[in-house]
Amino acid sequence: MTSTARLVIVGPQGSGKGTQGARIAEALGIPAISTGDVFRANIKAGTPLGEQVKAITAAGNLVSDELTGRIVRDRLAQDDAAGGFLLDGYPRNVRQVEDLDGFLDAAGLDAVIELSVPRDESMARLALRAKEQGRTDDTDEAIAKRLSIYERETAPILDVYRERGIVDTIDGVGSLDEITARITDALAARGITRPAAV
Ligand code: AMP
Repeated sequence: MTSTARLVIVGPQGSGKGTQGARIAEALGIPAISTGDVFRANIKAGTPLGEQVKAITAAGNLVSDELTGRIVRDRLAQDDAAGGFLLDGYPRNVRQVEDLDGFLDAAGLDAVIELSVPRDESMARLALRAKEQGRTDDTDEAIAKRLSIYERETAPILDVYRERGIVDTIDGVGSLDEITARITDALAARGITRPAAV
């Protein structure tokens, strides 16, 4: 069976979407594209893009839809994304859903993975990550801001995708392997599996 794997992973900060997204992308042989990682890498390297988004991301605010959309569109146009991709951190609001629809051809997305984690659990994970990784964008204030932006702006994108019948809601509490298995099972039920090597 040939199936495309054009995927989005959605979840609040601290839900483990970055980790699970990378695992799933690896398992399916598709690139994981994280807009947050793109911004962080540019900030670290001191590029003009990094300079432009540094203060915005540090405060926990969203970068503009135009700028983020341009980055995603260019990335999706690269050869390695032709057979599928997993977007992590994009789209983040309903406007970005519409932008992404425009970047994709009529076939659209194959599945949207929602990682569901209670707020207390994500807060605890974030506090740990800030300590372990020294992430300067993980201040308490920025974390609280991001969680409320998630609830207000990002959660509604799930309604849009639910209407299209492509959302799989996954319980994000458990061991890394358990959660990865839940996601791969849900995707397999949609016929989304790693293509056989040729
Ligand atoms: P993340 O690692 O996905 O939490 O992203 C880190 C930060 O990058 C966010 O808090 C935003 O400032 C910015 N960012 C990442 N993805 C987007 C997006 N789709 N739209 C706007 N800003 C974004």
